[in-house]
Amino acid sequence: EDASKAAAATADSGAPTIFDKIINKEIPSTIVYEDDKVLAFRDISPQAPVHILVVPKLRDGLTQLGKAEERHVDILGQLLHAAKIVAEKEGILDGFRVVINNGPDACQSVYHLHLHVLGGRQMKWPPG
Ligand code: ADP
Repeated sequence: EDASKAAAATADSGAPTIFDKIINKEIPSTIVYEDDKVLAFRDISPQAPVHILVVPKLRDGLTQLGKAEERHVDILGQLLHAAKIVAEKEGILDGFRVVINNGPDACQSVYHLHLHVLGGRQMKWPPG
């Protein structure tokens, strides 16, 4: 098994993640967009010329999309809207992909909900 799959096999423990440190600016990231609820920053291991992660600043139980509840409806909408703003800023509105990996079988490795915004190259379908 490759390293990403091994890392992704980690279960959702609810423990704080590295994204808390990024949100709190305790470790550096390249921020692309920020408002009071949402932070978007460049992925450290880009899978496309543009690869940005969009995260809620307050996790509020959203370790993964599969934990979403009624109270999360507003932030879920705000995350998608932020993804559009990011795509526009990056000049990829003609073709971009938004991905959410949910759980071990989808290779989720960080248990703080995040949208991957990918673009800047021809995207293939279906993804692996
Ligand atoms: P996967 O690791 O399989 O892509 P996820 O969907 O959980 O699973 O994605 C987590 C993402 O977080 C990865 O794309 C990874 O490169 C990124 N990442 C991890 N640490 C950092 C960091 N310090 N700064 C920016 N991105 C990071």
